[in-house]
Amino acid sequence: MTLEDIISLDKEYILPFYSRFKIGFKKGRGAYLWSYNGEKYLDFTSGIGVLNFGHSNREILRVLVSQSKKLMTTSNLFYSEERVKLAKALVEISFDGGVFFSNSGAEANEAAIKIARFFGKTISKDKYIILSLSGSFHGRTLATITATGQPKYQKNLEPLPQGFEYVEYNNVEDLERKFNDNVCAIILEAIQGEGGVRPLSVEFVEKVKELAKKHNALIIFDEVQTGIGRTGKYFGYQNYDIQPDMITLSKALGGGLPVGATLLKREYVNVCEAGMHASTMGGNQLASAVALKVISILTDPKTLSNVEKISKILFSELENIKRSFSFIKEIRGKGMMIGIDLDDTVKVIDVVNRMIDEKVLTLRSGENTLRLLPPLIVGEREVSIFLEALRRVFKQF
Ligand SMILES: *Cc1c(COP(=O)(O)O)cnc(C)c1O
Repeated sequence: MTLEDIISLDKEYILPFYSRFKIGFKKGRGAYLWSYNGEKYLDFTSGIGVLNFGHSNREILRVLVSQSKKLMTTSNLFYSEERVKLAKALVEISFDGGVFFSNSGAEANEAAIKIARFFGKTISKDKYIILSLSGSFHGRTLATITATGQPKYQKNLEPLPQGFEYVEYNNVEDLERKFNDNVCAIILEAIQGEGGVRPLSVEFVEKVKELAKKHNALIIFDEVQTGIGRTGKYFGYQNYDIQPDMITLSKALGGGLPVGATLLKREYVNVCEAGMHASTMGGNQLASAVALKVISILTDPKTLSNVEKISKILFSELENIKRSFSFIKEIRGKGMMIGIDLDDTVKVIDVVNRMIDEKVLTLRSGENTLRLLPPLIVGEREVSIFLEALRRVFKQF
């Protein structure tokens, strides 16, 4: 099939929820993709933070093939070695507790919201408020899109589920105003991904700790995008001095397979009982075996030391570039989650499109921010290809 054939079938048979770039890919390897037209692209999107260890990673492929020949899924009616090994591995790099497995970020957050409500009900019937931040993104199910502090995604979905309130991002006074004993949980991203690569301030995190303790509310970190090494630590919250009660994971955890996980601190595990929540495919053998390999690559010291090394180069080179182009407002982020905030004289979509002409894939987020999520395995060669393309594109504005 040619790209034109695919586009016309897409128009006919796929629901038009996405506006796509006019490219598709037939092959990927490491940090590179090959299009239907046979052209090679450098991928600084990683499938939106999914392929942290590159396309067709050999170690992941080996596990994928061998596990799929043994057993793919048996449902959650039966015990599974792969499932318990993965849960134990996640606990060992975060905090002690129990894990619920699902298949996506939205599902992982949906489970976190339900657990927070179960927890609230053990204290009082009115303790059900979930706080979230303006500009946040937590998924597209009805509950998670309600938690998402961006009204544009909630349009025409009314009536939305009740009991959600929004705190202005990094605004300590607003946090104090909204927090009370009826709050059962607050959900946060260490760095807002879809919201423009915006990190939480230390001051705000300290206030979250204080108020969550005072009002006996759970602290949930949505690590769907910031987890699995993206920010230079195993999880985004580890960049701060804070202990969450729950974290949610997806995207990179599955190494390319759909996997979601919700980890709950030991102290609260007893709010969960058989029958309260479920997922047919969650924690299946194939996904769990692959995710366990993802964790083993993540915990190889070489992985995060490469993130540290490359991230340093990227940030210092980007600060250099910033000095040459007045339309760059700010370089933000941590590790390999990087945002280049632009003023309104340059539209980020035009930058993304011209980077595509240069055969480099990038993302946008927030109002007008160029977002970079390169695979964590990129080397100096990929960094220089990217920077040269970016300089050429920025010169056009
Ligand atoms: C992508 C994302 C989600 C939603 O994940 P899906 O797998 O698309 O449901 C939730 N939270 C954050 C922070 C994300 O980046």
